[in-house]
Amino acid sequence: MTFDELLQWVDLEDRRLRERFSNYPDEEKRILARTVKISEELGELCDEVLSFNSMQRQEKLDEDKAENLSAEFADVLITTLLLAKTMGVDIPTALRSKMAKVDKRYEVKV
Ligand SMILES: [Mg+2]
Repeated sequence: MTFDELLQWVDLEDRRLRERFSNYPDEEKRILARTVKISEELGELCDEVLSFNSMQRQEKLDEDKAENLSAEFADVLITTLLLAKTMGVDIPTALRSKMAKVDKRYEVKV
């Protein structure tokens, strides 16, 4: 999958969610809901990280499935991209800018 394909799928999911939650009166509520959703998904990822490191109760470890970890990484990425879209943030541009800043940290200063 390319990053463009992911962004196209996020556009599709955005349209589907807007239909499903069409009762939101304004974008402010949608932004708030999507922000809270990221927090929910991040919590689920943290839960899976704890399980990965066997730092959960045995009952939880017994219920855990290996594919949950990767699914939660995907949820965090998707919910983050959905919020960025809602707020008009151009993620490819933001990533290029951030990557250039990080690269600069490693440049040799003369
Ligand atoms: Mg999840």
